[in-house]
Amino acid sequence: MMERVKAWVNDQLALGEFSSREQVLRRSAIMALRIAALAYFLNVASHLILYAAGVFPYDLPAALVIASVLTPLIALPVAFIAYYVVGQAVYELALSRAEFERLSRTDSLSGLLNRRAFLEAIETAVSPAALAIFDVDRFKTINDTLGHVAGDEVIVAVAGRLAALGCGRHIVARIGGEEFAVLVCGLSPDETLAYVEDARSLIEAQPVACGAGPIAVTVSAGVADCAPGRDFDDLFSHADRALYLAKVSGRNRVVHERAVAGVVPPTRYEAPFGEIVRDLGGGRFATMAAGRHQPKA
Ligand code: GH3
Ligand code: MG
Ligand code: MG
Repeated sequence: MMERVKAWVNDQLALGEFSSREQVLRRSAIMALRIAALAYFLNVASHLILYAAGVFPYDLPAALVIASVLTPLIALPVAFIAYYVVGQAVYELALSRAEFERLSRTDSLSGLLNRRAFLEAIETAVSPAALAIFDVDRFKTINDTLGHVAGDEVIVAVAGRLAALGCGRHIVARIGGEEFAVLVCGLSPDETLAYVEDARSLIEAQPVACGAGPIAVTVSAGVADCAPGRDFDDLFSHADRALYLAKVSGRNRVVHERAVAGVVPPTRYEAPFGEIVRDLGGGRFATMAAGRHQPKA
């Protein structure tokens, strides 16, 4: 019994029967009518049973008239109010739960999906799809010279442009400080690259209007294609390597994973801009600079 009640409450918290205030009113009215009818039936039945048993102390017709008037008069409003109060509470609870879930999946600064939500969303993606990782170029310099508020404004602006370009078709998320992931859905490999290149050039073409004035912003991107049997770690690692290559090749460019294979020697190489880069395997690199793909000119 308790299990059924629990299951019912859980269903309602997913905005089942109580999906709007009007729905709560409607359900309360229907349930009040049912409860009143049941109460009336039980009342009349108990009158008749007592009468048949010869223990009914009143005049039956008069008692039935009184029962017919009083039972709906009392049962209807009481049942309606009780159901309405519970329904309203469940509805409010369901709304706050939905809001809490939304917030737990949303990056608070940019309003995009956060990393967790992106990982969930990517599992439901259908082929063909590709992962593009965008990273704002020399973002630390923006922070250092114009302040963190300007840095935040740049993050919000880049997020807005990527989201607008995604058109609800592609899945866009902020997965780190100034790093964004886009799962490009339904495009061929060539179309995907053209799409990511468009995003890059759009961001380059329109300086971000910040409180501190317009800021020229560029991004680099690494792209890897989804394939059957390819897990997310592998996909991400290859897109990340491509992003790394975009950075060491001068930034403000898009690199596809297939370009990495041809360029990166297996163990160690001297990257453009003079960094010493060591291939750690599994798609990871170490440079003289700390952190992931953080080459500095
Ligand atoms: P690169 O071109 O190689 O990507 O260089 P970069 O300067 O963009 O990269 P780096 O990793 O050195 O700098 C990223 C900086 O982003 C460091 C960190 O303090 C800052 N950051 C991370 N999260 C936020 C945030 O939410 N807001 C702001 N304003 N800065 C952030
Ligand atoms: Mg950066
Ligand atoms: Mg970064």
